[in-house]
Amino acid sequence: MQYEAIIGLEVHVQLKTRSKMFCGCTTEFGAPPNTQVCPVCLGYPGSLPVMNEDAVRKTILAGLMIGSEITRFSKWDRKNYFYPDMPKNYQISQYDLPLCKGGAVGKVGITRIHLEEDVAKSFHFETTSGVDFNRAGTPLMEIVSEPDIHSPDEAFAYLTALKEILISGDVSDCDMEKGQLRCDANVSVRPVGRKTFGEKIEIKNMNTISGIRRALAFEIQRQTAALEKGEKLQQETRRWDEAAGKTFVMRTKEYAHDYRYFPEPDLMPVAVSDAMLEEIRRLLPELPEAKRQRFIKQYGLPEYDAGVLVSSAALAQYYERAAANSKNPKAISNWVMTELLAKLSDISASPIAPEHLAELVAAIDAGQISGKMGKEVFAEMFATRKSATAIIKEKGLVQVSDAGAVEAFVEQAIAANPKSVADYRAGNSAAINFLKGQVMRLSKGKANPQLVGEILESKLRET
Ligand SMILES: [Zn+2]
Repeated sequence: MQYEAIIGLEVHVQLKTRSKMFCGCTTEFGAPPNTQVCPVCLGYPGSLPVMNEDAVRKTILAGLMIGSEITRFSKWDRKNYFYPDMPKNYQISQYDLPLCKGGAVGKVGITRIHLEEDVAKSFHFETTSGVDFNRAGTPLMEIVSEPDIHSPDEAFAYLTALKEILISGDVSDCDMEKGQLRCDANVSVRPVGRKTFGEKIEIKNMNTISGIRRALAFEIQRQTAALEKGEKLQQETRRWDEAAGKTFVMRTKEYAHDYRYFPEPDLMPVAVSDAMLEEIRRLLPELPEAKRQRFIKQYGLPEYDAGVLVSSAALAQYYERAAANSKNPKAISNWVMTELLAKLSDISASPIAPEHLAELVAAIDAGQISGKMGKEVFAEMFATRKSATAIIKEKGLVQVSDAGAVEAFVEQAIAANPKSVADYRAGNSAAINFLKGQVMRLSKGKANPQLVGEILESKLRET
């Protein structure tokens, strides 16, 4: 029997705001434990929360970027649970009235986006545990997808695209190493063709995008094997162990939380006005798909090139800066994709300035240097950060395009190789390549190859 996987993802994203969700504490990462706290985020009795408007605006912007409906009336709810990472014993979240509903990232539908406060970070040592409240209260956006994902690769593509969108809107830096983007997955497996879902199994603790791909692959395989053996799966929450490469049961259905949601009495509901929505709409950046279409049209690039170049905002920006200074945007794309990206994974670390790359392409197009010299110049630019013009001048790499000078080299080559000349005249047209090589050698590689070909052919036709 063939099985298919049904995957839905819940992505938690820390918003890039200066202060926390309901107090004025800074959100800066990396400070010593419990130094960025106050009575509000420590849950002291009598303290009152004040909503961070910037966090609401950034959540709405995220919704606009993925085509969500922005609900104009939203409210805050208390999600009750007891654990040391939440001193109030409840987390302020949004239950039935989230800020955004619907939308899509690629082919994956979005159910909702709501805003809540992050919880503290727990550390477990050999015999003790510690809690760091610096993270408690950081604005956290939860993006819930529809169960539209069917493979680990699709999950990987969805997360990569989502991350790119959020970064482009400056909503979050999405740095997974700093815990700014975290993901839980709901995975079930069913025989192909069946309409009802299998038992939903939740996986937590996946901390990298590649970890998520591995965890999903493991879990799909585990569930499929169990079904094939005739075992019955049950609804449960499992934890991904990166080192072991396996998922383990955390809790089963009997221990599922009842969060007893109820409206937060200390905060007013959120009403989004037309003016506010319009202001946020003006911040909308160009989305990757629109940018891809524009690159195809504006620069005459093939779809493949455009897709690669818009895959990161930094790469697209580098390309556009180079192309703006060039008459040959396709050649720029070739240099970026085959030469630069072969040497670099992060374009912002490129020792070659985009303007310098445009200069190199212009020098080749003008016949000032050959394509082969171009590679040499490129390597030197990469090593020294110097401009193409400076290197061409320094190395005396100027191509000889003066017909008289090239003719002299051609005559020398013809005089020195009578056998090849005779072969060519006898009908062996390939013999001309050897002669071309000789001319290039005589000119120390500086003769314009096209001109060499033309002059050589006309000389050989003379008898
Ligand atoms: Zn605080």
